[in-house]
Amino acid sequence: MQEKRDLAVPSIPGETYRARALRHLVLCSGLIVAALVVNNFIFNPANIGRQDCGHLEQREPLCPQLDALDPSNPIWRTVGELISTDAFKERAVDWLAGAVQIPTEIYDDVTEIDDHRWDSFRRFHEYLLEAFPLVHSSLKLTKVNSYGLLYEWTGADLSLKPVLLAAHQDVVPVEPQTVADWTYPPFSGHFDGTRIWGRGSSDDKSGLIGLLSAIESMLELGFSPERTLVLSFGCDEEASGHFGARELGKAMLDIYGRNSFAFIVDEGGGFSEEYGTTFATPGVAEKGYLDLRIDVASLGGHSSVPPSHTTIGMLSRILVELEENPFPVEMSTESVLYGTLKCYASHGKTMPLDLRKAIVDSTRSKKALKHLGDILFTDPTNVALVGSTQAIDIVQGGVKSNALPEQAYAVVNHRISTLSSLAEVIEHDTKTIKGVAERFNLTFISFGETISDPGVPGAFGSLVLSDAYNSSLPPLRRRRHQGHTRDPMSSFREQFKRHTTLIEG
Ligand SMILES: [Zn+2]
Repeated sequence: MQEKRDLAVPSIPGETYRARALRHLVLCSGLIVAALVVNNFIFNPANIGRQDCGHLEQREPLCPQLDALDPSNPIWRTVGELISTDAFKERAVDWLAGAVQIPTEIYDDVTEIDDHRWDSFRRFHEYLLEAFPLVHSSLKLTKVNSYGLLYEWTGADLSLKPVLLAAHQDVVPVEPQTVADWTYPPFSGHFDGTRIWGRGSSDDKSGLIGLLSAIESMLELGFSPERTLVLSFGCDEEASGHFGARELGKAMLDIYGRNSFAFIVDEGGGFSEEYGTTFATPGVAEKGYLDLRIDVASLGGHSSVPPSHTTIGMLSRILVELEENPFPVEMSTESVLYGTLKCYASHGKTMPLDLRKAIVDSTRSKKALKHLGDILFTDPTNVALVGSTQAIDIVQGGVKSNALPEQAYAVVNHRISTLSSLAEVIEHDTKTIKGVAERFNLTFISFGETISDPGVPGAFGSLVLSDAYNSSLPPLRRRRHQGHTRDPMSSFREQFKRHTTLIEG
C-alpha cells in the first residue's frame, strides 16, 4: 500500500506498522500545534512588531499606543454623572434642536458681508447668547468679520499653550423643491426619541452645540480651566471658509501668534470600524489642491477653410495626454495610508492573514514594501489616497458651428499627495503638456513662465496654464524629519520656485 511507504517518520527496527503510524500521527499533531502556536504568535495583532526571529521586544511596535489619560479632577466624575441623567438629555436635545431650527444656510455666490442672506447668522448668535448665558458671561467673545465667533476661556496657567476647539455654524442650503422629500422638515429640529432631524444636526451644529453645552455645564459646576481654551466657529465652512475660517485664522494669528496651540480639535472622521476593531481616525494630514486652467487660443476664421487643428482639437489632445500620464504612485513608509495600515494590522482583529503578513513584511524590506503597494493599488481609492490625482471637470470652447473657436479652456482638478507639492504637480503637468505645445507650434506659458516660444509669427497660437480660481493649497502634514527634502530641486522646479513661493507663502 502506497500510504505505508509515505509515513514521514523513519522506521525503528522491529517496530510494527501500527506503532510507526501512531508515532507519525503524534509527530504530525505536534507539528500542527507548533505551527498554530507560531502562526498565532506571529499573526496575533498584539504581538506584531514585537516578534522578529529571536529578537523579541527589539523592534518598534507597528502601532505604538499611549496609556489612556485619567483626568484626576473630580469634576470628571461629576460631569459624567450629570450627562447621564434624563434631565440633561432633555436639555441637550433642546439646545441642539433650537440651533437646527435657525437656517444658517451658506451659498457659494455670497460675495459680500452685507448680503441679506447672513441675517440668519445674526439670529443664530442671539440664540446662542440666550441658550448659553454662563458661556457668554464668563468667556471672552470676539466677532470676527461680523459672523465668525471666537471665544476664549482663559486658563489659570498662561504658560500653557491653549487648545483650539473648532466647529462651523453654517449648513448647506436645502433645495426648495426637495423639502417635501424630507421625513421631517429640514429646519424642524424634530426629536423622534432617538435622533434630532434637520440640516446641521450632525454637520456641524452637533459639534458647536456639544462644545457650548459642555462648557455651560462645567461653568455651572464651578469649573475653571488650567489651560486656556479657544473656540473658533466659522460661518461659511461649506463654501470654502473665505468669510469665516480665513478671517478667524488671521485673527488668531494676531492674538496668539504662530504655532501657538497645543492641539486643535475640529470636525472630522471621528471613529471607524475596520477589520472588526473600532479605530479613532483623527485627521493628521491634508492633501493639497490645485484647479489647473488650460487655455488654448488661436486665430479664428470660417469653418469652410479650417486649419488641421482647432483650439478644441488641440485642447482635446492635451487632455488625452494628461489622462494617459497620471501621476505615478508608490507605497512609501512616509505616507499617511501606510501608518494607518500598520495600525490596522496591529489591532484589527479580522484582517486577512495574507494582507497582515504583507504589511508586517513591508517594514523589513523595500521589495516587500513595493509588494504591499502592488496589492493595495489594485484599488483606485488607495491610489487616490496616496498619490496626486487629476480629474478633468470643466471643458468649454466654441460658440457656433460655422465659426472656428478662437478660444477653448479646461479645468483640471488636482488633489496633491501629502508627499508631493504644488511645484511637483505644476512640473508634472507642464512636462506632460510641453510635447503637445511643440507639436502644434504654440507659445507655451506655464504659471507665468515661458516654456516654449516658437516666435511670432511662427506661433500658431498660445497655450497658457494657470491657477483657475487662485484657490491652490499646498499639502499639509507634519514631517517626521524637519528640513527633509525628498530629492534635489530639478532645474525645472527652480524655474517655478518664484511662483510656488507666491502660492505656498
Ligand atoms: Zn462640516
